[in-house]
Amino acid sequence: MSHDHDHDHHPEAPSPVEARALALESLLVEKGLLTSEEVDRIVSMYEHDIGPMLGARVVARAWVDGPYKERLLADGPAAVKELGISYPDGTQLVVVENQPEVHNVIVCTLCSCYPWPVLGLPPTWYKSPPYRSRMVREPRTVLEEFDLTLPDEVAVNVWDSSSDVRYMVLPQRPQGTEGWTEEQLAGIVTRDCMIGVARPRIPAESGAR
Ligand code: FE
Repeated sequence: MSHDHDHDHHPEAPSPVEARALALESLLVEKGLLTSEEVDRIVSMYEHDIGPMLGARVVARAWVDGPYKERLLADGPAAVKELGISYPDGTQLVVVENQPEVHNVIVCTLCSCYPWPVLGLPPTWYKSPPYRSRMVREPRTVLEEFDLTLPDEVAVNVWDSSSDVRYMVLPQRPQGTEGWTEEQLAGIVTRDCMIGVARPRIPAESGAR
């Protein structure tokens, strides 16, 4: 193996985090606290059952049901549980609502805290040091890099997540969705909308991209 400065591209070797996870798994299996099947089941759950489609259901319900929205803003965990989504005890979920003059975006400056029960696993960029540091210092510039340009009169609130408090953005319902079903509405709520780096968009008929 060469001794250059490229430590990033060794597909055969696990990253330090992967190695740590594997070591912990072997230890827990060895102690009889966990089986490999359980680990596989949880990984599969995160791949298939837990993801932004859960948060999208929450957003769609809040858009069509005013009293539900109030409950969601007042007590996130209780409101997501109403929809049958499990939310672990001990972590707060604060839902922040976008307004015509206020845009919200979430970050974890310390590490990668994320509202995983409603959004699943965080995207890689969310965990990247540039996103974490720059979103706090220059949110408008970073949002522009995500193709989200906000007018000057719209204030940007950046919410710094922690292990105790996670945030989720409740985007604004786009005009032109009057009469849509909850399912149709949920279909336009992406993960990025709930992080706050995008806004829900109605698919354009004439391919305006
Ligand atoms: Fe974190």
